[in-house]
Amino acid sequence: MNIHEYQGKAVLREFGVPVANGLPALSVEEAVAAAKKLGGPVWVVKAQIHAGGRGKAGGVKVVKSIEDVEKEAKRLLGSTLVTHQTGPAGKEVNRLYVEEGSAIEKEFYLSMLVDRETSRIAFVVSTEGGMNIEEVAHDTPEKIVTFSIDPATGAMPHHGRRVAAALKLEGDLAKQAEKMVAKLYAAFSAKDMSLLEINPLVVTKDNQLLCLDAKVGFDSNALYRHPEIMELRDLSEEDPKEIEASKYDLSYIALDGTIGCMVNGAGLAMATMDIIKLYGEAPANFLDVGGGATTEKVTAAFKIITADPNVKGILVNIFGGIMKCDVIATGVVTAVKEVGLKVPLVVRLEGTNVEQGKKIINESGLNVVSADDLDDAAQKIVKALKGGK
Ligand code: GDP
Ligand code: MN
Repeated sequence: MNIHEYQGKAVLREFGVPVANGLPALSVEEAVAAAKKLGGPVWVVKAQIHAGGRGKAGGVKVVKSIEDVEKEAKRLLGSTLVTHQTGPAGKEVNRLYVEEGSAIEKEFYLSMLVDRETSRIAFVVSTEGGMNIEEVAHDTPEKIVTFSIDPATGAMPHHGRRVAAALKLEGDLAKQAEKMVAKLYAAFSAKDMSLLEINPLVVTKDNQLLCLDAKVGFDSNALYRHPEIMELRDLSEEDPKEIEASKYDLSYIALDGTIGCMVNGAGLAMATMDIIKLYGEAPANFLDVGGGATTEKVTAAFKIITADPNVKGILVNIFGGIMKCDVIATGVVTAVKEVGLKVPLVVRLEGTNVEQGKKIINESGLNVVSADDLDDAAQKIVKALKGGK
């Protein structure tokens, strides 16, 4: 789960990480009131959307008067920002963050994530801040320093010194970096973050280290431990299909291909997506209906898939171990009877209660193409999409 910059900064502030003072605003009036409260003389008006690249798209403005705060707030609220991370449709701006402006001396990059290779929290730092880190990684990889932290020791002073050295900081600034690393690590692990990206981390003209941006993501599987974080969820930032799926506890991720997938097991779902790609099409979603799915859950899943206008074909691929094929079949038939079926449907069932499952599908009168295995199923749905049966 992702949160807004202003919420991320509030979490960091709790842990003593240096961030500028700022106030969120949902209206122009609130933005003006926030600016007055902060006092100025320089403010930054920042669009709050769950995507980076706002600066280049005009979503971050440094201003020097209350009138300009008002002007920018009017311009941004209700507008749609298109950045390199929003996709071409962009995102509507419904919240602003008004922050005290900082005089920037240098911009750095710092992020933290869970490194799956070492199963540890890792730091990624670079002197090349404020810009696209993917570009830095591609063009000048030597300018990126990464290391991971042993959970048995936690963040140690030498980790802080490593960050300071990577950023070429000395004296008091190096000390500030060391303290910050310990606090960031504490925040990241205490809140079960999955990603924390500060781009830019800056040195101000008066020699203070400050987090000027904060992108924070949390491990969804640990959210039950953090009700205060769950409250920060902004549903307007999420795909409506994913919200609907989460109501049924389905592991569903919307993608931009054309073949809707209903699969049990994350591994099989990934393999199904891969094989669709292999035969030249792209999946419209990742969906793992799980082991203990009920007919109701399967019906909901099928409805979510068919409601996606990009879906030009559906592939149901079930290897029933714990999941029973007849439950899947009933769910598919129920859903199709409710919402209709306007695209080709290929079903591959194998495993527990497979005969009952096939019987339910065959006797339903639905126009279903049945497949024998994963390879056959993928070929059949791709072929059906291209017109031939
Ligand atoms: P992003 O473009 O979505 O990543 O948004 P950021 O929060 O990173 O802001 C974009 C850029 O605006 C930063 O890289 C800074 O160069 C600039 N910026 C943000 N806050 C301030 C500020 O307080 N003072 C100044 N001078 N520039 C700022
Ligand atoms: Mn940024």
